[in-house]
Amino acid sequence: MESRGTKREAGEIEVAEPGNKLPRPAPSLPTDPALYSGPFPFYRRPSELGCFSLDAQRQYHGDARALRYYSPPPTNGQSPNFDLRDGYPDRYQPRDEEVQERLDHLLRWLLAHRGQLEGGPGWLAGAIVTWRGHLTKLLTTPYERQEGWQLAASRFQGTLYLSEVETPAARVQRLTRPPLLRELMYMGYKFEQYMCADKPGVSPDPSGEVNTNVAFCSVLRSRLGNHPLLFSGEVDCTNPQAPSTQPPTCYVELKTSKEMHSPGQWKSFYRHKLLKWWAQSFLPGVPNVVAGFRNPEGFVCSLKTFPTMEMFEYVRNDRDGWNPSVCMNFCAAFLSFAQNTVVEDDPRLVYLFSWEPGGPVTVSEHRDAPHAFLPPWVAAVSILAPSTGSPTRRAAP
Ligand code: GDP
Ligand code: MG
Repeated sequence: MESRGTKREAGEIEVAEPGNKLPRPAPSLPTDPALYSGPFPFYRRPSELGCFSLDAQRQYHGDARALRYYSPPPTNGQSPNFDLRDGYPDRYQPRDEEVQERLDHLLRWLLAHRGQLEGGPGWLAGAIVTWRGHLTKLLTTPYERQEGWQLAASRFQGTLYLSEVETPAARVQRLTRPPLLRELMYMGYKFEQYMCADKPGVSPDPSGEVNTNVAFCSVLRSRLGNHPLLFSGEVDCTNPQAPSTQPPTCYVELKTSKEMHSPGQWKSFYRHKLLKWWAQSFLPGVPNVVAGFRNPEGFVCSLKTFPTMEMFEYVRNDRDGWNPSVCMNFCAAFLSFAQNTVVEDDPRLVYLFSWEPGGPVTVSEHRDAPHAFLPPWVAAVSILAPSTGSPTRRAAP
């Protein structure tokens, strides 16, 4: 096992003097960007291990049935004219956000495939398993000034599992979401419907319902520094005409944004929105983000493709821009912090990592409900069909 030590690792300044019987202060992890500049860390080219789909009833299927095909309008000199408000609210079936799915769909995929995972015996026992969206939040943390987060962590048969917990503030925001914001969320999904078809080589059909229960999720393997990663992320569509048809390089992320008219508006877009777009697509190796710019009436009249690997160029010379190295070094430091905190191998034991803008990441310890998130069926099926990898117990930091 390689050393997980880094200069900035949390806990190093907290170690009590030998012989000092005082309890050591709870360790925490600072998030200031200045602490995480430095060379870009190793990040393994993400490879797809498999996929799954969720249907209109949010039921799991271990196949690609929900994958859609990129089908932009013909480029015959005409601009698009997509009415993103069409169908709202009568042809909208939003997912029930009260249902906290935690890692369940990903665990179901893992349970079916953990015997055939590449990487050799024991690979999974050394890995971190989570959603791509959780890693996105970690990447953007050093620059985030609005929304905090909470991540629950448990170790089971060596593997460290990370699952987001909705913060009380996020819950209040969700339950009091203004009607205009609800419509804006719909409009993002409606754009996907204008840009995607159910089969390759076919034109999109925007006449149907927008059902946000439906999802196609790619399951990916990567590694950040010495942290092997297995994560899943929702993919909007695949481009049948991509130079390589091999996932994830054929995948396309679709986004909408407000039309911009001044250099100041573009600058702010590069500083804030492009950071989120970059973090989300860089993690799974999705090479292109296609943006639809909407006017105040809710019509998309222009499209622009942003290659993920070129996004940083827009802020490289901006003193108030973001830096991919900072994002990735912070994420690596957090993963080390979590690995060193969650020592016991026990699915009922949960460490809750909490962060609010302006402060450090802090930790609290919990047992069972409400925070335990590894469902009993994971442990039960593991006993019936043990994996080839041998369970490990981490050494204390
Ligand atoms: P993203 O990067 O934030 O879009 O999240 P992921 O791609 O990692 O999505 C992981 C899973 O969470 C998928 O099944 C998504 O459909 C689901 N998901 C994504 N965003 C949300 C959300 O805001 N609320 C809930 N409940 N689920 C979400
Ligand atoms: Mg999208």
